[in-house]
Amino acid sequence: MPENRRRHCVVVGGGLAGLASAVWLAEAGQQVTLLERRGSLGGRTIAMPVAAVDDVPDNGQHVFASGYEHLMRYLDSVGTREHVSFPGHMTMRMPGGATRVSSFAGVSGLRTAIGDLPGVTGVDRLRTARAQATLIRQALRQPAWLDDITADEWFRRIGLPQSARDALWDGIVIGLTGDKPDISSAKVPADLLVTGIRRARATRTPISIGYPTVDLDTLFIDGAQKVFADNGVDVRHRAVVSSIDVADGVVTGVTLSDGEKVTADAVICAVPVWSVKGLLDQVPGHEAIYAAVDQLTPVPIVSVNLYLDRSIGMSDWGEILYGGEGVLEQVWDRQRMHGRSAEQHHLYSTTVSAAYDLTRKSNAEITDIQMAMLRKYFPDATDAEVIHSHVVRMPKSTFAQRPGTAGIRPEQRTAVAGLALAGDWTRTDWTTTMEGACQSAARAVEVILARDRSGTREQGAPTP
Ligand SMILES: Cc1cc2nc3c(=O)[nH]c(=O)nc-3n(C[C@H](O)[C@H](O)[C@H](O)COP(=O)(O)OP(=O)(O)OC[C@H]3O[C@@H](n4cnc5c(N)ncnc54)[C@H](O)[C@@H]3O)c2cc1C
Repeated sequence: MPENRRRHCVVVGGGLAGLASAVWLAEAGQQVTLLERRGSLGGRTIAMPVAAVDDVPDNGQHVFASGYEHLMRYLDSVGTREHVSFPGHMTMRMPGGATRVSSFAGVSGLRTAIGDLPGVTGVDRLRTARAQATLIRQALRQPAWLDDITADEWFRRIGLPQSARDALWDGIVIGLTGDKPDISSAKVPADLLVTGIRRARATRTPISIGYPTVDLDTLFIDGAQKVFADNGVDVRHRAVVSSIDVADGVVTGVTLSDGEKVTADAVICAVPVWSVKGLLDQVPGHEAIYAAVDQLTPVPIVSVNLYLDRSIGMSDWGEILYGGEGVLEQVWDRQRMHGRSAEQHHLYSTTVSAAYDLTRKSNAEITDIQMAMLRKYFPDATDAEVIHSHVVRMPKSTFAQRPGTAGIRPEQRTAVAGLALAGDWTRTDWTTTMEGACQSAARAVEVILARDRSGTREQGAPTP
C-alpha cells in the first residue's frame, strides 16, 4: 500500500481540535469532510460581532503559554503565527492601584523563587520560599497521594502561606487547571508545572505567556478556510452527528441526526467532553470512556467586554487583580493588545474563571460587579461611564479534574480501526487548553496516518 494513500476522512466537530485535525489530514493528502453542528466554525474559540459598538470582541480572552508547541504548529499551518505576541510579563495590581510587574524570567523570577511576592511579608517570605521548593520537588518526584488530594490541601500540607496563594499560586491553579484549588486534583497543576519546566529546559527559554493580536476568527478560522479551499476540504455546517458507525471492528462512517449516512475510511471524533455520550455506543470500550466523561465536569467562565468613555489607566496589556474573591480575575486592554485606536471608546475585557456564582446573575448585575471591581483597583475608573457592556457567559468553558481522576482521560487511539478521538478532554500533556486540543489533534491524525503506513488494519501508536 502506498504511504498515506488518499482516504476519505470525516472529522466531527469544528473547534480547534477538529480544525487542526482537518488541516493536518488535508496537508497529508487525505480527502476530508468536516462536520460541525453549529452554523460556524471555532467551537469555544470564536469572535462575536457586537453591532452596538461596531466591534468584534472574542467569546473570552484566550492566553497562550510558551510551551504551546502544537498550537503554534497549527498557526504555522494556517499562516497566522505572526499574530501572537509574547511580551514576557504581566502586571499584578493591588486594590488602590499599586502595581508590580510579574514574570518567571530574570530578577522577577528570582524574587518569586525567594518568596518576594506582593502582599507576602516578614516570616511568610521564608515560609513561601521553603514551601515553593517543596512544591517543585513534589511536582517533579510525585508522591503517590498527589491525586488523592485537592490543590488546596496540597498547599496546606506544604505550609504555603495564604498570602502567597493570594498573590500567585491560587491564580496559577485556576489559570492552569481551569478550576478552583479546592476542586482541582493536586496532580493537575503538578503535571502542568513539570510540562512547563521540561519545555523551558528543552527550549532554554523561561516560561512566558502571550496573547493574540487579532480576534480569534482571524487567528484560527480564516487561514483554515483557505487551507480547506486549497485542498478541497468539504465543510458542512449544521451537520449534527448522532452516531459513529462501526462494522466488524472497523469504522464505516457517521450518521447525522436527520438520518443521513456519511461513509468514511477514517473518522476523528473531536466533540467536547459534554457532547460525546451517545456518539460512541458502537465502539467497544465506550463504557469506560463515558465513565470518564461523567467525571470531567464543566467549569464556567464569564467574560465581559466593557466599552468605557475613558481610559482606566492600565499599565500593561493584561493585569491580574491581587486578592480577588477566590476566583481568578483579570483585565485585558484589548485595544493595546490589538494595536487599535481608542477614539470611539476604551475597551477592557474582564475574565472571571470558575465563575460558578457570577454565571447565575443578570447581565446588569455582572456589569455592576465588574465595574465595582475596576473602580477598586484603578483610580482612573472611578467616574468611568459604561457606553456598552457585552457579557459572555460560557457555563461549559473548561472541565474540572477532581482528585481520583488521574489517568482517566482516554487516549486518541480507540479499539476501532480507523477511529480516533480528539479534543481537549482526551489524554495529552496539558489540561483543558487550546494546546490540549491541538496536541490531541496531532495524535489523532498520527493514529489515522500510521494505519495507512502500516498497510494493515492495526492502529498506529500515538506519538509521545
Ligand atoms: C471563555 C474561555 C476562555 C478560555 N481561555 C483559555 C486560555 O486562556 N488558554 C487556553 O489554552 N484555553 C482556554 N480556553 C479553553 C479552550 O478554548 C478549549 O480548551 C479549546 O478551545 C477546546 O477545543 P476543542 O476543539 O477540544 O473543543 P470545542 O472548541 O468545544 O469544539 C468542539 C466542536 O464540536 C462541535 N460539536 C459538538 N457536538 C457535535 C456533533 N454531535 N456533531 C458535530 N459537531 C459537534 C461543537 O459545536 C464545537 O464546534 C478557554 C475557553 C473559554 C470558553
